[in-house]
Amino acid sequence: MVSRNENELNFGGNPLDAALQATNEWPEDGKETVNCCPVCGGKERSVVHASLTDRIFFCAPGVWILHRCDACGCGYVDPRPTPSAIGLAYAEYYTHTLDKNEVFLSNTSPLGKRFIPMRNGYLNARFPRLGMFPSNPLGSLIMKLFPATRALAERDVRHLPAPADGAKLLDIGCGSGAFVRRAISLGYLAEGLEFDAAAVAAAANEGIPVKEGSLPDTGLPTANFDVVMLSQVIEHLHDPMAALREIHRLLKPGGLFWLATPNMDAPGHVHFGADWRGLEPPRHLVLFSPKALNLALEQAGFVGVEFKPPGAVSHWFYRASHRISMNQKPEANISLPSDLTKLARREDQLSLRNPLVGEELVVVARKPEI
Ligand SMILES: [Zn+2]
Repeated sequence: MVSRNENELNFGGNPLDAALQATNEWPEDGKETVNCCPVCGGKERSVVHASLTDRIFFCAPGVWILHRCDACGCGYVDPRPTPSAIGLAYAEYYTHTLDKNEVFLSNTSPLGKRFIPMRNGYLNARFPRLGMFPSNPLGSLIMKLFPATRALAERDVRHLPAPADGAKLLDIGCGSGAFVRRAISLGYLAEGLEFDAAAVAAAANEGIPVKEGSLPDTGLPTANFDVVMLSQVIEHLHDPMAALREIHRLLKPGGLFWLATPNMDAPGHVHFGADWRGLEPPRHLVLFSPKALNLALEQAGFVGVEFKPPGAVSHWFYRASHRISMNQKPEANISLPSDLTKLARREDQLSLRNPLVGEELVVVARKPEI
């Protein structure tokens, strides 16, 4: 759900939004208390940030407190918007951020650009139906020597295995279906689920199969999918445990679950504090630590939990966080100072060996075989 195209936002807004923003108060009857950790139920907690405001899209009113569960390290906003009021926080969020074409991360980074034919050769060998061009057939061998570029390429295909014939994939919170289209090109029978009707319509215009719906009650059949994906969604949900249990229900026995979400314990969070891009108050209701995510997946019935390198995502988080620290709006053209660029590069390198120390947590897990 998080778009990296912040620059495309329009701050026009409607009169109601403008009035709410002017008062900077969230309606009292649109708040609810949480009181305990949404993952482990622990009551002991510490305040991490006492007065967060929306300095990302500047569209959500209110001042928010982020707590951290002392037991599992999960971060959560409390009090938080009610499910019926949360739409106020998305006033400028969705309709302007419908990416038709999800880009290859490895096309956009300077590191990845140098290796496009190798990257394509590597992915073509992984996914025989893909047929990317230009392609160097030595890519599958040579990419083994370049782990950072390989990590980007793997992130671009969300660490998927080559599909068995007829393998069914569901991307939940797929926006206008850019990754659904990619998964189809990889050989999956892929479809998407998205709650934003405008995004569903945009997908339909492109001929991408996306249904309208949301977690935790998808209404989809039990044990129907070989793969379910959840990219940048779980942090937005009021009941992440119910969502994980629903995904478990949707998967066939032995089915694969892939998830990406900001890392509560990210070095960027430590460095930037309340200015960290991953916080995104009050749209991000829950921020997982590695420990909390592991626990949540196990509690929902998943096995074989494996964290993957997030790829070179630190520069994007650092630049957005730096922009927030300067109190600039998303359209501001801010470059990252060289000391922070070095820190971001170092973090990307470290996260290749230890996926728990990146800006995002990327994880795969399986529903047990019967
Ligand atoms: Zn907890």
